[in-house]
Amino acid sequence: METMSEQFASDNYSGVCPEAWDYLSQANHGDVPAYGEDSWTQKACDHFRELFEADCEVFFVFNGTAANSLSLAALCQSYHSVICHETAHIETDECGGPEFASNGSKLLLARGDQGKMAPESIEQLVTKRSDIHYPKPKVITITQSTEVGTVYTVEELKVIQQIAKQYDLKVHMDGARFANALASCGHSPAEITWKAGVDVLCFGGTKNGMPVGEAILFFNKALAEDFEYRCKQAGQLASKMRFITAPWLGLLETGAWLRNAQHANDCARYLADQLQQFPQIQLLFPQEANAVFAEMPPEAIEVLRSKGWRFYTFIGAGGARLMCSWHTRRDTIDRLIDDIRSVLE
Ligand SMILES: *Cc1c(COP(=O)(O)O)cnc(C)c1O
Repeated sequence: METMSEQFASDNYSGVCPEAWDYLSQANHGDVPAYGEDSWTQKACDHFRELFEADCEVFFVFNGTAANSLSLAALCQSYHSVICHETAHIETDECGGPEFASNGSKLLLARGDQGKMAPESIEQLVTKRSDIHYPKPKVITITQSTEVGTVYTVEELKVIQQIAKQYDLKVHMDGARFANALASCGHSPAEITWKAGVDVLCFGGTKNGMPVGEAILFFNKALAEDFEYRCKQAGQLASKMRFITAPWLGLLETGAWLRNAQHANDCARYLADQLQQFPQIQLLFPQEANAVFAEMPPEAIEVLRSKGWRFYTFIGAGGARLMCSWHTRRDTIDRLIDDIRSVLE
């Protein structure tokens, strides 16, 4: 059986955390109603409402692409457009899923440093045209934490909220790594979502220790109208729903969701600190969540790869993304650092 402890490729290489596994196995007793009519699902939904201090509508789908695509489609007509950062997962890694699910809503790409949309860039896209020939801007989508491992501050979110209010736009949040953002910023879940103008949150479970399954929270309940039909039509309604919602409840009830995220963030902080000792290595972005982006000499990357280390290098030449998870170990980081030292010195 192949396992890889030598990896910083992605937090979705990790397994299921013990708390999620425990609840998964507890849910595996006897028969219960299908399609989310069971008590695990009820309890998980209630727990989300309590955690977010909001009477929100909660749905579950299998993965993040579906969560983003279906929730964005719920906010748009086909002639609308969605504003996202140019590095956003919905633009670069979802194979056109949001456009497909919405029957053609166009993505408009905003720019900005450190993976965050600059308010001027959003505003420029919204005000550029107002004629009938241009897809009407309808949604701003924010990735939290961002694709480059940074975290929008509450103040930054509120500036976006103001723009959304001014131009009558909805706000969507891709929170595939929402737990990491929360652990990093020290605010409450409510403060960085609905209190900062977020209408819909895709709350990632998979990268945080779940086997599978993302939650979609509609704080603006009117937008959730008929959403269950959209999920069903898209093949995203699990009949044995309890095997998604029981592990979610395990994460929520035990607090593992936040501990897992904190652990991943702490590992990334430790890794970033260790990398600073090498003058040949530059960190490309501030380490705020569970990712470290490092510019390394290409020879070093090659040697590390040949030693079996796995990581992605998709940002520029020599830039390596080193991703930590709930399961990353200090001694693995130490071994990576030792290997880097042996290459560079
Ligand atoms: C991982 C990820 C997703 C979800 O990806 P799936 O592979 O579809 O589960 C969505 N957004 C971001 C920013 C991600 O990193």
